[in-house]
Amino acid sequence: MAYRILIKAGVSIERLKRPVRRTLNKLVWIYAQHGYDLIITSTYEGTHSPSSLHYSDEALDVDDPPEEKQEITTEIKTSLGRDFDVILESDHIHIEYDPKG
Ligand SMILES: [Zn+2]
Repeated sequence: MAYRILIKAGVSIERLKRPVRRTLNKLVWIYAQHGYDLIITSTYEGTHSPSSLHYSDEALDVDDPPEEKQEITTEIKTSLGRDFDVILESDHIHIEYDPKG
């Protein structure tokens, strides 16, 4: 399989904190199982709520393939475990590192 991580123009993954960066291999694998490339649509740039973990480089948004976004969201949740919040938003999947004590 030759599935890839694609990064939207203007988005950089350089600053992502290590726990978030480490999710990328798992994410690309999950997307590949469904036949998709992983597309990162946002990290710290763009407009997020003021308290968003995007601004501390602990969150990223990924594309949500319309046909399978529910399944993919569930698989990401299961794969990343309780230290991550995974939320299916209106046009993307939001993933943030939020360790629970
Ligand atoms: Zn987000």
